[in-house]
Amino acid sequence: MNQLASLSSLAQKDIRHHLHPYTDARLHEQQGPLVIERGAGIYVYDDQGNEYIEAMSGLWSVALGFNNQRLIQAAERQLRSLPFYHLFSHKAHAPSIELAEKLIEMAPVPMSKVFFTNSGSEANDTVIKLIWYRNNALGLNQKKKFISRLNGYHGITLASASLTGLPANQRGFDVPLPGFVHVGCPHHYRHALPGETEEQFAGRLADELEQTILREGPETVAAFYAEPLMGAGGVIVPPRGYWERVQAVCRKHDVLVVVDEVICGFGRTGQMFGSQTFAIEPDVMVLSKQLSSSYQPIAALLINDSIYQPIADQSHSFGALGHGFTGGGHPVATAVALENLRIIEEQHLVEQAALMGQRLHAGLAGFSDHPLVGEVRGCGLIGAVELVADKASKAPFEAVGRLGRYLAGRTQQYGMINRNMGDALAFCPPLIVQAAEIDMILERFARALDDTERWFREQQ
Ligand code: PMP
Repeated sequence: MNQLASLSSLAQKDIRHHLHPYTDARLHEQQGPLVIERGAGIYVYDDQGNEYIEAMSGLWSVALGFNNQRLIQAAERQLRSLPFYHLFSHKAHAPSIELAEKLIEMAPVPMSKVFFTNSGSEANDTVIKLIWYRNNALGLNQKKKFISRLNGYHGITLASASLTGLPANQRGFDVPLPGFVHVGCPHHYRHALPGETEEQFAGRLADELEQTILREGPETVAAFYAEPLMGAGGVIVPPRGYWERVQAVCRKHDVLVVVDEVICGFGRTGQMFGSQTFAIEPDVMVLSKQLSSSYQPIAALLINDSIYQPIADQSHSFGALGHGFTGGGHPVATAVALENLRIIEEQHLVEQAALMGQRLHAGLAGFSDHPLVGEVRGCGLIGAVELVADKASKAPFEAVGRLGRYLAGRTQQYGMINRNMGDALAFCPPLIVQAAEIDMILERFARALDDTERWFREQQ
């Protein structure tokens, strides 16, 4: 009770009324929220005036930082001219048309059409439904299953949570739904056999995918669904040769390749799309987060002609495509996204992210010798450092996540927000981050890591 009394009245109201996502509700009743009040550049400020480097870009998403005036003006202009209109029943408005054109132009492989939703989860549910609809149109009535990966993250709506391969998103929720199958996580450090090279590991995973398709029956498998590199599942960079091998398996069995670029898209991996970094030729691409720097909720999916044409025929015979969200392609969200993409291009932020990524990874690599650090990994401006109980055997800690949580708590004490995924700590700063800020991120992390080691030794 005393602890509660020391919280601000806003924090107390939050405890009384708010059920938070990805939060331990009982713990929250005791400790309350960190209330963030404003942001500027790569920093956010809490209601007590404390400053934090937002080393996660919010939720891997605020590419342009927290006070970009051009994005704010784009939203304001659009709110004044047309605050809402929809895209149902042949209606359209300029920002959605222009954004659709822009995304088709930017796509690294030929794409045919864009469909807008409000969130990544909705976009992934939409992909699933559109592929079912397409396969029904083609008379492929059995070809409905989706294969995704353990540790993959695709969202939390019923179908996208079924794609997601993380226990926390399924435990207690009665998902996955039938027809969703998971294959192995492409994490060489954790899952390779002793002595197995990256290429051999990639080959084994591709074989596993093929065996899974054959076991289920290729005539029942619609698509393989994956992030170019896994984000929320631990920032896991696939082993060399992985994408080449799994794509070959998919093509052989007429299985579509859906690439979830919700985190990777728009520069995160050091190129515009993760599909370019990993040489992927997707049939469907899913985009969100850095599409608008999250100033407005928006996601988009791009489908190629092999998907669009049957859908168009089917919608014609049914009289309409019976799918769409009230806010999908919202004029303010699409106007902000267009301005956001203009800025990313004009300011060469993808090249900048690649450069800053090199600096980040060079710095993080310096922690490899630390007694608690098992693996340092990442690509472009996204990375993670995983703590282990034993460096030689790679053994994880008995209570998984306890040290990771402590470490994230320490970085917060030092004025930096990171996310721990189990005992790995993620880094995903805004694309606008400068060299001196990368150095500050590394310096704050170093102090937090040393504190964590001291705390760990004291517990022994
Ligand atoms: N796909 C990926 C790869 C994601 O990282 C996320 C969100 N972290 C989603 C889908 C779901 O997006 P949303 O939270 O907007 O539903």
